[in-house]
Amino acid sequence: MSIKESKKAVVNLNICRGCLQCISVCPRGAIRVVSGRAWIDEDKCVGCGICTRFCPFQAIRMVSSKKAKKDREVKEIKDELGKLRGALFSILARIDKLSNDSCER
Ligand code: SF4
Ligand code: SF4
Repeated sequence: MSIKESKKAVVNLNICRGCLQCISVCPRGAIRVVSGRAWIDEDKCVGCGICTRFCPFQAIRMVSSKKAKKDREVKEIKDELGKLRGALFSILARIDKLSNDSCER
C-alpha cells in the first residue's frame, strides 16, 4: 500500500458552498452532491488530493484513513443520538398529554 492510499479526502460541510467544482476533477468519481453539499465516498476515494487543489473555498482536506473512519463512526453515533432524542421527546410529550388528560377528569 502506498502512502497516498492511506489518506482520504473529507469535506468540511460548514465551508462547502456546493459549487460542484470538485466533482468533475475527481478521477474516481468519488464526489457527489448531497443536500447541496459535496459528499465523498470513502470507498472510492484513493487519496490523490486533486480535489483539494480545485476547491475555491478550501473546504476539502486530506486526513488519514483511520481518522476518516473514526469521524464517520462519530457522525453515525451522533445521528443515532439525534434520532433517540427525537423519540424520547415524543414519548415524553405523550406521557405529558396522558397525565394532563387524566387530571382533567
Ligand atoms: S482525493 Fe482524489 S480520489 Fe479522493 S475525492 Fe479527492 S480527487 Fe477524488
Ligand atoms: S469545490 Fe469545495 S465548495 Fe465546491 S462543492 Fe466541492 S467542496 Fe464544496
